[in-house]
Amino acid sequence: MTANKILIVEDETPIREMISFHLVRAGYETLEAADCRSARQLLADERPVLALIDWMLPDMSGLELTRMLKRDKANEDLGIIMLTARAEEYDKVAGLEGGADDYVTKPFAPRELIARVQAVLRRASTSDEEVLAAGVLELDTAGHRVIADGKEVKLGPTEYRLLHFLMTHADRVYSRTQLLDRVWGANVYVEERTVDVHVRRLRKALTGANAHHYIQTVRGAGYRFSTRTET
Ligand code: CA
Repeated sequence: MTANKILIVEDETPIREMISFHLVRAGYETLEAADCRSARQLLADERPVLALIDWMLPDMSGLELTRMLKRDKANEDLGIIMLTARAEEYDKVAGLEGGADDYVTKPFAPRELIARVQAVLRRASTSDEEVLAAGVLELDTAGHRVIADGKEVKLGPTEYRLLHFLMTHADRVYSRTQLLDRVWGANVYVEERTVDVHVRRLRKALTGANAHHYIQTVRGAGYRFSTRTET
């Protein structure tokens, strides 16, 4: 996920370009899509952190697109702000239940839009700077460090990302394919065996702290992080 990248899904070119102009001026990088099909392609290829989605789009409604995106686990951290022509057109409940974080009514002042974008991104990033703790392990995301029983565990960047992902999704099983998508990125071509290699390295690094058994193999399904004993 790219912290600064925002996708604008809006079929009206002048509005899309106006939004992009103001976001770029505010320091963001923008991607533009005029329909849901290209929006989904850009989401998969570019991994933006936030999407601004117009309520009325040519091939699918913005709400349907939001629902579809949120059904996919790969987008669970994606922030979504809906754009709507009139407040009464927007069904706030449906939008929020569909997975949107906020909505902005057109026409809007650029400053208002930027403020909403910043607010959603702030909410999303609070989970980026924290200390995750489980069993004897502590993962300090701000310092990018892993501590086990008071001692620092040296991990390679992939092992760190893998552990971070698994710790933030503890007690859930992920297949190798899911881990490749979530930890390596959907467009990186690596073999599934790569996951096994990094899981082995991660376990090895955690052995000294007797935390290797947190990384559990679930036969025929994949891997899971759990401090509970395997069953
Ligand atoms: Ca529209």
